[in-house]
Amino acid sequence: MVAPSATQEAHDPAILATARALLDACASPREMAEQVVAAVQRNEQWRGRACINLLAPEAPTSPLVRSLLATEVGTRAAEGHIGAMNRWFAGTRYIDEIEALCVELLKQVFRCRYADHRLMGSMLGNLAVYHAFAEPGDTIMSVAQPFGGHSSNRPNGPAGVRGLRIVDIPFDPVELTVDLERFRRLAPQVRPKLVVLGLSMTLFPYPVREMAELAANWGGKVIFDGAHQAGLIAGGQFQDPLAEGAAVLTGSAGKTFSGPQSGMLLWNDPELTRPLTDTVFPVLVATHQVNRVAALAVAAAEMLAFGEPYMARIVANAQALAAALDARGIPVLGKTKGYTRTQQVIADVRTFGGGLAVAQRLAEANLITNKNLLPDDQPADWDRPSGLRMGTIEVTRLGMGPTEMAQIADWMARVLVEGDDPRVVAAEVEAFREGFQTLYYTFEEGLPPASNERA
Ligand SMILES: *Cc1c(COP(=O)(O)O)cnc(C)c1O
Repeated sequence: MVAPSATQEAHDPAILATARALLDACASPREMAEQVVAAVQRNEQWRGRACINLLAPEAPTSPLVRSLLATEVGTRAAEGHIGAMNRWFAGTRYIDEIEALCVELLKQVFRCRYADHRLMGSMLGNLAVYHAFAEPGDTIMSVAQPFGGHSSNRPNGPAGVRGLRIVDIPFDPVELTVDLERFRRLAPQVRPKLVVLGLSMTLFPYPVREMAELAANWGGKVIFDGAHQAGLIAGGQFQDPLAEGAAVLTGSAGKTFSGPQSGMLLWNDPELTRPLTDTVFPVLVATHQVNRVAALAVAAAEMLAFGEPYMARIVANAQALAAALDARGIPVLGKTKGYTRTQQVIADVRTFGGGLAVAQRLAEANLITNKNLLPDDQPADWDRPSGLRMGTIEVTRLGMGPTEMAQIADWMARVLVEGDDPRVVAAEVEAFREGFQTLYYTFEEGLPPASNERA
C-alpha cells in the first residue's frame, strides 16, 4: 500500500498515522472493526458521562430519539416527495406515514404552514435558499464572521459558491445586534435580494420586522438562519422570525432543538414551496435517511410537550452562568443587557491566553467549550480568536439549575484565574457529573425534580 503523503492530507497527519498503526496491529478486519467500536465507547465514557459539555451547538437527544436512529427503516431507500406517485421506489407506505407525521409535527411546533424535513444539515438549508431565491451575480446581505456570522452565508460557504455578491449587514459591537440606522441607510443603495439574519453567535434578538419591511420595498426577503435558535423559537423563548416577517426560517435540529442532527426549512408563503422543495429534491438530497426523519419527528413531539419549560430553563441557566463567570473575574459580553437571551454565553478570554489555549485547558479539566471570534477580531484570527463560547443545552437537559451554574463558573475560574491544575479540577468535575446522568424534558423522565428548580 502507498502511504499517503502528509502534505496532501487536510486532516492532522499525526492522528491519521496513529490510526494506521492501530489498524496495522490488528490481526483481522474484525479486530479493525473492534477498534472503531472501542473509540466510540471511549468517547461515550468521557464526553457522555464524565464531562460537562458546554458546546453551544450541541444537544443530548432523548433515549427514544437515539433508539430510532438505529432502526430498520434507516436501511430503506426513499427519495422524492411523500406519496406513491412522487417516489421512484415502491414499498414506501409506512415511510410515507413516518415522513408525513414529521412534516405535520414540524408545522405544529413552529406554528407555520410548510416544513421540509429532508436535509442532513442547516448548511444545506441555506444552500437551498440561495438556489431557490437567488441567481449568480445577485446581491445579498449577511453579517460578518467576527460578529457571529456563519460560513454558510459568507463568501467561503454556500452563498459564495452560488456566486452571490455579499455585502455586510452593519452590526453594533456593543449592543451585539444589527445597527438598524446604518442598515436603513445602506440597504436601499444595495437593494439585496436576500437579507440573512441569525448567527452562530446570537445573544439578543434582531430587528426582523423593521428589516423585512424595508427590504419589501424592492422585493427583497429576510431569511432567518435559526440554526442555533430553532429550539428557543419552537419553545416560545426567542423572537418568532416567521411571525415577524421573515420569509424562510432555516434551522438545525441538533442544536437547541435537541433532536438528531438535521436541517429544517420552514415557511408560510405558498409561492415559496415549489422553488424550495424542487431544490431539496432533486438538487440536494436523494435518499434522506428515514431513521433520522423518525427521530426528528419524535424530537418535535418532545418540543411540543416540553419546549417551553426546557428552553426557558436553558436561557435562565445561560444568564446565571454568565453572571457567575463575570463575578469571578472572567469578562462576559452583553453585561449591560443582562448578558444573553439565548443558550449562549460569550466570554472575552484574551487575558487568559485567548480562545484556543483556554478551550484546550478547560477540556483538560473535563469542561468542554469552544474558541470563538469576538467583534474586534479579524476573520484572519480564526485559528486564535479572543473569545470563548459556551452554551447551556446539555447541562439543562441533565437537570442542572443556577446552583450548578455557579459551581461550573467556580471550576472555570480555578483553572483560568487561579491557575489550578486542570487535572485536579477534572477529577472533581467527573465526580460531580456522576450525579447527573439522567436526561429530562423527555417522555421517559418528564421534568427535572423540583429540588433542582430552586433559583
Ligand atoms: C451551525 C450553523 C449552521 C450549520 O448547521 P448544520 O446543521 O451543522 O449544517 C448554519 N448556520 C448557522 C448560523 C449555524 O450556527
